[in-house]
Amino acid sequence: MEKFTIVEWESKGVLLFGKEKRNWNFQCPNCFQVQSVEDILKDGFPPNLAYTYCRNCNYRAEKGTFGKGKLISLDPAQEVEIFDFA
Ligand SMILES: [Zn+2]
Repeated sequence: MEKFTIVEWESKGVLLFGKEKRNWNFQCPNCFQVQSVEDILKDGFPPNLAYTYCRNCNYRAEKGTFGKGKLISLDPAQEVEIFDFA
């Protein structure tokens, strides 16, 4: 699984989708649905759920992403598994 620092991950997101994070898309590793930050906001969820919670099947990234997600290190002691970009 690819590992990023939060800064590297944000750079990759900007490259893929542009600076406006509402347009960033993520894919659920469980049901493969693609959702954007905009979709999550419309449902009334906080934006970070776009890459940690699937609105289709209610799957959560903290349960694991079957090797399909990304590992983000917030600091050397803490890594978080999240959905991959779609
Ligand atoms: Zn899902």
